[in-house]
Amino acid sequence: MQKLTFKKGIHPNDRKEQTKTCSIEVLTPPELLYFPLGQHIGAPIEPVVRVGDKVLMGQKIADSTAKMTVPLHSSVSGVVKDIGLYLHPSGIKVPTIVIENDGLDTPADPINIWHIDLLDSDEIIQIIREAGIVGMGGAGFPTHIKLSPPLDKHISRIIVNGAECEPYLTSDHRVMLETPEEVLEGLLVVKHLFPDAKAYIGVEENKSDAITLLKQRVKAYPGIEILTLAKKYPQGAEKQLIYAVTGQEVPSGGLPMDIGCLVLNIDTVSSLYRALAMGQPLMRRIVTVSGNLVEKPGNYSVRIGTPFRHIIDSAGGLKDEPAKIIMGGPMMGVAGYSLDVPVVKGTSSILLLSKEEARVLPETPCIRCGKCVDACPMNLRPLLLNAYVLAEQWDKCKKENIFDCIECGCCSYSCPAKRHLVQSIRVGKQRTKNHR
Ligand code: SF4
Ligand code: SF4
Repeated sequence: MQKLTFKKGIHPNDRKEQTKTCSIEVLTPPELLYFPLGQHIGAPIEPVVRVGDKVLMGQKIADSTAKMTVPLHSSVSGVVKDIGLYLHPSGIKVPTIVIENDGLDTPADPINIWHIDLLDSDEIIQIIREAGIVGMGGAGFPTHIKLSPPLDKHISRIIVNGAECEPYLTSDHRVMLETPEEVLEGLLVVKHLFPDAKAYIGVEENKSDAITLLKQRVKAYPGIEILTLAKKYPQGAEKQLIYAVTGQEVPSGGLPMDIGCLVLNIDTVSSLYRALAMGQPLMRRIVTVSGNLVEKPGNYSVRIGTPFRHIIDSAGGLKDEPAKIIMGGPMMGVAGYSLDVPVVKGTSSILLLSKEEARVLPETPCIRCGKCVDACPMNLRPLLLNAYVLAEQWDKCKKENIFDCIECGCCSYSCPAKRHLVQSIRVGKQRTKNHR
């Protein structure tokens, strides 16, 4: 079997055994849910409800007239308890709508179920926008914007990212196994927008059960191909996935659409299906809860707005205080500071790591072994970038293409001197940008 891949990269222990066989468990929503207004990249949104208003499940609670934005919907029915500053998963307080759940799940009326063949592209894009769909891999880019490239960009390949190469994460794997039709039907929605494009779902070889199942089911979906990707990190990074599937490189500073590609996350594609075929806005997501401290690691279907603590309690609680909370994978995820923050549209996982799992070794001097260079999938020289950042030589950082860094962490992982390479490059990107 041919396994597609990209150049360089690393092979970390995937640590997926804790949850990869755990079927998705639907959690009962809590009494209070928190909806931060900042859940996407783009223009901010404003509440369209007031304290004391009754709301229905799926009702829009915040929106904006800006193009580059998406609305936010209540994931339960109930009453608006408060609108104020509450802690966001990023660690800062942001404007948030708090809803008291009445436990009835009374749906917003009417729910429209669309027949895609009767819709034109503009109508489909508008439905996707109104459903509040954003990239659910973590970036939060509005999907209706991604699906509306400029007229001079011809999309010839649609790639659904089923790599899920980050250690611990298994939510996309479970979605492919448990609801493959939602993924395939969602991809048909995208194909409807780009009828000439070839469509692929790329899945890493360590999810062979999902590959087998999708290959069976795809027979009913002409024009979609299931591809087996080698198990390598960061196979699911956009540029690396595109290279693996097409053999083409996205130019430095360019976008996938510059070479005719469009990449979408598995759960994002499923959300397109639910928006069009079931009339559901984005109200829930699948979250992997894992790490040695979790009593009952698993994959949970949770309503947007559910506090982490409610999910952890539903997962049997913790064995000890976590040394580290991570949202997303351990390689590219972000550190969390509290369990009293809600699931947002981009929350793919909650990892609760023990001291042993989260251990960071002290830095020692670079021995110029070149292992970071050998590992970097973007062909950068991390040792030089690290040195330039430490010397605050921002022009040299720019010359070394610091902005090409995708912050994958392969360099830090490979470094025998335990240099904090990705951390310093992340800071360096910001400082270089400010220096322009
Ligand atoms: S891997 Fe570490 S020690 Fe080796 S060259 Fe890179 S920064 Fe230096
Ligand atoms: S320099 Fe950036 S892109 Fe290269 S390995 Fe390090 S984090 Fe990844």
